[in-house]
Amino acid sequence: MTVIKLTNSKTRKKEVFKPIDPNNVRMYVCGPTVYDRAHIGNARPVIVFDVLYRLLRHVYGKDHVTYVRNFTDVDDKINKKAQDTGRSIKEITDETMQWYLDDMRAVGALDPDKMPRATEFIGAMITMIEGLVESGHAYVAEGHVLFSVESYKDYGKLSGRSIDDMIAGARVEIAPYKRNPMDFVLWKPSSDDLPGWDSPWGRGRPGWHIECSAMSYELLGETFDIHGGGNDLMFPHHENEIAQSCCAHPQGGFANYWLHNEMLQVEGKKMSKSLGNFFTVRDLLDQGVPGEVIRFVFLSTHYRKPMDWTAEKAEQAKAKLKKWRKLTKGFAPTEPIKEVVEALCDDLNTHYALGKLYALSDMLEYVLGRGKTQKHDLPEPEVVAGWLLASANLLGLLTPELGGWETSDVDLSSYADHLFALRQSAMESKDFSEVDALKTALLDAGVEVRMSKTGVELEPGLNFDASKLEGLL
Ligand code: AMP
Ligand code: ZN
Repeated sequence: MTVIKLTNSKTRKKEVFKPIDPNNVRMYVCGPTVYDRAHIGNARPVIVFDVLYRLLRHVYGKDHVTYVRNFTDVDDKINKKAQDTGRSIKEITDETMQWYLDDMRAVGALDPDKMPRATEFIGAMITMIEGLVESGHAYVAEGHVLFSVESYKDYGKLSGRSIDDMIAGARVEIAPYKRNPMDFVLWKPSSDDLPGWDSPWGRGRPGWHIECSAMSYELLGETFDIHGGGNDLMFPHHENEIAQSCCAHPQGGFANYWLHNEMLQVEGKKMSKSLGNFFTVRDLLDQGVPGEVIRFVFLSTHYRKPMDWTAEKAEQAKAKLKKWRKLTKGFAPTEPIKEVVEALCDDLNTHYALGKLYALSDMLEYVLGRGKTQKHDLPEPEVVAGWLLASANLLGLLTPELGGWETSDVDLSSYADHLFALRQSAMESKDFSEVDALKTALLDAGVEVRMSKTGVELEPGLNFDASKLEGLL
């Protein structure tokens, strides 16, 4: 069986991945808070964990992986948006969830197997909180339920800090009812104008962290394989998830492997809503950047390295993908090559895997031109194209769903009609000078021209330059 190695934030080591049950490999990834469009930084964990999902499905079988990603649909940012806009919370969260799915599908992410909404699991959260109060890990104070960090000896282990360091370094909310400033909210009271549910502590709503503990327990069990998210969530969110889950289910180990993606940055700072230095996935798509290009750019940097989005990277990715799509047109995927699978198995080395795709495309270009070149013993074009397609598909690239953009960005039909009409009259007059002039100009603009008795086919080539078309008609 193929060996997958992953860098586990819990041990800070690259470890061999051993699933609890190879027939049901289980992964949980923290999803978005749904009050606004996702910015492109939010797409990074989605793409990274989509590659891991595809790899796990490749290694263990499609039906042997369960991927859960939640929607946080109860949150003070959502409440504020509802108050500011006068719209209902349901309307805002439904709309934002749909946007999110549309945008993430546009960058080639498969839907996770389960996408629970926090509000569907309030009962499970209340049960878990009750258990934590009973076992002394949580206490009730002024209508709030708080988790007592001192009750859990391993608190801070994931992020490698002591409780004292955290107090010194964090902007903690000092509330008189907290026994320790690091204690965090499991449940809080809701006023009548805010969403609330009946609970043993009165009408209220959950704190942010408890939902992931409750939903992962309900859907994946008390121990599962992989937990993922951006490294900005490591503290406090993931630290708190561990504390809640391990205290509520002391027999379980919660997640065995923790994976964290690094941040997408803008001039050295994390792209985030609060800093205002963001643009959305939808902005890029609307500007004509294909989703496949966005995906490629992300995959060209290893997930554990910070990265910037630049227009230059997008241009290069676009040219590569366009070339690959043209070269593989008409061929079908077969099996991914060993080197690509191995690169992904080595802690998702997508950068290296893309390098292997470059090599395959060079080989394909060469064998497609074999008629013109000397003899060699390389495989037939359909074999190489089959490898390239299947290997790219494993990264979620060159899939049929993400295609179409490579030819649809320019409409050359009026040029084709014009060239055909010129050709028809030239057949009678026997003067082909105008036909030749237009053909030369089109070729000069990087258009591929195919003429026959029945019609003219034009397609933008790799060096297509639309500005050179001006004045040709
Ligand atoms: P949020 O809705 O802010 O909780 O974020 C949803 C997901 O996006 C989480 O996994 C975050 O870690 C991740 N995330 C947020 N900002 C960035 C960024 N600039 N780069 C990469 N991941 C991010
Ligand atoms: Zn979470």
